[in-house]
Amino acid sequence: MSELNPILAASNESIEAYQQAIAQTSEAVVNWLQQPYMYQGKTVAELRERIALDFNPQGLGNQAAIERAIELFLKDSLLVHHPQCVAHLHCPSLVVSQAAEVLINATNQSMDSWDQSPSATIIEVKLIEWLRAQVGYTAGDAGVFTSGGTQSNLMGLMLARDAFFKRQGHSVQQDGLPGDLKKIKVFCSENAHFSVQKNMALMGLGYRSVTLVKTDEFARMDVNDLKAKLAEAQANGEQVLAIVATAGTTDAGAIDPLREIAGIAAEHNTWVHVDAAWGGALLLSEKYRDYLDGLELVDSVTLDFHKQYFQTISCGAFLLKDARHYELMRYQAAYLNSEFDEAAGVPNLVSKSLQTTRRFDALKLWMGLEALGQKQYAAIIDHGVTLAQQVAQYVTEEADLELVMQPQLASVLYRYRPAQMANSSDADIALFNQKIGDALLESGRANVGVTESNGVTCLKLTLLNPTVTLEDIKILLALVAKTGQELLAK
Ligand SMILES: *Cc1c(COP(=O)(O)O)cnc(C)c1O
Repeated sequence: MSELNPILAASNESIEAYQQAIAQTSEAVVNWLQQPYMYQGKTVAELRERIALDFNPQGLGNQAAIERAIELFLKDSLLVHHPQCVAHLHCPSLVVSQAAEVLINATNQSMDSWDQSPSATIIEVKLIEWLRAQVGYTAGDAGVFTSGGTQSNLMGLMLARDAFFKRQGHSVQQDGLPGDLKKIKVFCSENAHFSVQKNMALMGLGYRSVTLVKTDEFARMDVNDLKAKLAEAQANGEQVLAIVATAGTTDAGAIDPLREIAGIAAEHNTWVHVDAAWGGALLLSEKYRDYLDGLELVDSVTLDFHKQYFQTISCGAFLLKDARHYELMRYQAAYLNSEFDEAAGVPNLVSKSLQTTRRFDALKLWMGLEALGQKQYAAIIDHGVTLAQQVAQYVTEEADLELVMQPQLASVLYRYRPAQMANSSDADIALFNQKIGDALLESGRANVGVTESNGVTCLKLTLLNPTVTLEDIKILLALVAKTGQELLAK
């Protein structure tokens, strides 16, 4: 039977129901954390069969609904903290991030206006100021928390576009896009995130507006090709809105030469947006902060905290070097960010965001920074980068394993090629490695990534998890070999 008043509020019944629900779910989480398998290994068909909504006139009540969620969702969820869960930039989360979520959810503050989130707004603004200082930007608060890298990249591209047309005396915000849209281009490397393409399509400019710059042997943007392609664009009368550099490509973890790119962009009076969704973690690093050299020079930056900052999803940020560009997306809504408020200096963050109603995700990073402190945060970030180097060394020493690229951040690209396949074609080895990845997930024992690097299909270990050791990865690599041998024996 459902409760008479299901709302979280001050009544004794509500408080009792809240405590019961939280206790029941946190106990279930504790049990789930200790499941032996990374995944219980159900197929798409089995899950489709099993999972069904029970929406009836009476309602089940909280306790039964929670029970069902444990059965249908929790038990068949992937254990992201498992040492053999290394396929994606998908992190285990900080304990303190869980506590933050309890506060974020219970208070249900909305970040669009100060009168819906007073203390939360101030915390977010102070955190943006702090992040700007980490990047090396001047003091200020131009920036906002976002749902993640995709949205932050959209903000960078949109403001770059609108700033470009503003210089030509045109307001895209008021009048839409002018002129020959086929002439509009943005540049990024072949290894940039696909959200560049998706965002350009969303902005009405299509995938065709994205010019891909070649990459070097380490998957970094080739600046000579960038220069050549910019010159070509100029000769063709094309309009270059922005160069998107990547700090930490999704597979190889490659960091484009940011300082050089910023220099080239300055010569062309072009906006540089840096997608540091992954590599931005190095802002807190003790050993590898210099990899981000030049970040302070660029116009806008994407950061993601639900990757190597170990925050729960969602948690990202967008930083804008020059606050004046925020004018380009200004919209005054009488009920949220009125002129009256602005004159009085009331921070209504809707002015800085593409979203209106927005979660207080900033609290997670704030509490993470305070709980861990500089040394421990740096240590858990650096762990993955150092571990990737050790794993790469091990891979090169093993006869059946081939390192596909030297690691740069916390990923290792490699393939399994046993003696039986010494003379096999690249296509056969590719298919074989793909099958190993699929078989491992199906067994529920491991999730390794399968991807392509310079046309070579390979396996990917994304070593974000700071509790994982070289020994764990050796066990995983042995499992890969065992699975491969089983496939060959079939
Ligand atoms: C993950 C990632 C993104 C997308 O970020 P979301 O938070 O998933 O939207 C963008 N760029 C890079 C380089 C990434 O690794």
